[in-house]
Amino acid sequence: MKTSFYTSWGNRGAVPHFATIPANMTQAHVIFEYDSSIVYGQGRSYGDVCLNTNGGLIDSRYLDRLLEYHEGARLITCQSGVVLKNLITFLETKKMFIPVSPGTANVTVGGMVANDVHGKNHHRVGSFGNHIQSLTLLKGDGSIEECSENINNELFRATIGGLGLTGMILTVTLKLKSVENNCIAIKSFKTKNIEHILALFDETDDEYEYTVAWLDMYSSPQKGIFNCGNHANGDIDCAAPVKSKTVPVNAPNWLLNGVSSKLFNKLYYSKASLFEREVTSYQSFFYPLDGVEFWNRLYGRRGFYQYQFVVPYGSFLTVYMDILKFIKKFNQPSYLAVLKKFGDIKSIGMLSFPRAGYTLAMDFPDKGRATLKMFEAFDKLVMDAGGAVYPAKDARMNRNVFLQSFPAVTEFIKHKDERFCSDFWRRVNIDG
Ligand SMILES: Cc1cc2nc3c(=O)[nH]c(=O)nc-3n(C[C@H](O)[C@H](O)[C@H](O)COP(=O)(O)OP(=O)(O)OC[C@H]3O[C@@H](n4cnc5c(N)ncnc54)[C@H](O)[C@@H]3O)c2cc1C
Repeated sequence: MKTSFYTSWGNRGAVPHFATIPANMTQAHVIFEYDSSIVYGQGRSYGDVCLNTNGGLIDSRYLDRLLEYHEGARLITCQSGVVLKNLITFLETKKMFIPVSPGTANVTVGGMVANDVHGKNHHRVGSFGNHIQSLTLLKGDGSIEECSENINNELFRATIGGLGLTGMILTVTLKLKSVENNCIAIKSFKTKNIEHILALFDETDDEYEYTVAWLDMYSSPQKGIFNCGNHANGDIDCAAPVKSKTVPVNAPNWLLNGVSSKLFNKLYYSKASLFEREVTSYQSFFYPLDGVEFWNRLYGRRGFYQYQFVVPYGSFLTVYMDILKFIKKFNQPSYLAVLKKFGDIKSIGMLSFPRAGYTLAMDFPDKGRATLKMFEAFDKLVMDAGGAVYPAKDARMNRNVFLQSFPAVTEFIKHKDERFCSDFWRRVNIDG
């Protein structure tokens, strides 16, 4: 048992949490000494899906073993606490890669399943859950269930994207993709405005597996950088950047402010050349923010929020323009904004976030009530457009927004385990 300040990425939950760190997961009873528990992976969710203020946390750090690798079938089975960067390092030696990767490698495989994470290639391959062959789940009654498309199918679909609420994922068997090397061949464009970015998404869809755009929300119209890439061919090696830097403690609240983030956005844009082609490492392409470990501490003790939503393609531009109006009205520009295009491959999970449309993720410092008021205005726009807000990034959405974003929750609750609960689940109050 360990008492620690388990926090999420946005610096939520800075109260002591008692975490059980069981080395042997067959001792199921160890886990259930609280009325409710939730698994904590690497705490890279921004809000409170991985927190449980009034109950227990189960820290998955010792479930860190790779169990089986089948070259021919391109399958790997690992424990759920395996951290993505370690998995990638192993797969590199086999000329394999994971089918879907989020924007940081400091996440666990269990966390990737529970949020059914998406990458820059959703338009080609769907989300992480689309590539899971099977998983094993420890339930609150101590039983262990195997789940796959053919076995316990409903529990499988509830667990993928199920926010850790159906039980503790013990192992995951994942389908891999083979690659020739550890490099990505990228092409970058400096963009003039949002219309330019949307056109580039359409133009590059077929040719490129990975696409993503960064937006400078201080400029008007918003300039940006659009990156597209494919796995490179040939017998080449791209060394990862040398060791990342660390932000050791929370920075003073004044350090990262409107002026410094405006400057950062401006410099980032001006440093990029108008049109660039290069071959780069996985780390530089997929995980640029991992270069500074604990960069979230730059926001200081108050922390920050990320607001990530998805809306259908046809509604995006209108919603985006209205969001800009609210940002101006509330005078709270986003310090960092990233846009991706989701394709129409259906997610397996009942509560999976990805669905056809554009998804915009924006970081905002926590300025208290004013920030929350602005998000409520965003919610209305997103809900009116038939979109959804992403729980992995959320610390404040209300019950109605959750219900409208995830109508299949009525099916999901049949599979929720009564011994598992999180601050998020309590807040959206589906159980009443
Ligand atoms: C810089 C950065 C970039 C990101 N980019 C993306 C992105 O591009 N796409 C995207 O989709 N997400 C992205 N994320 C979010 C991140 O991928 C998810 O929040 C992910 O789930 C975090 O994994 P974790 O191991 O830290 O899990 P935690 O945050 O600790 O937990 C997340 C959820 O998973 C559950 N969970 C964890 N382990 C288990 C288990 N063994 N059994 C059952 N439930 C479990 C928890 O209970 C919780 O509900 C990003 C986050 C950061 C910080």
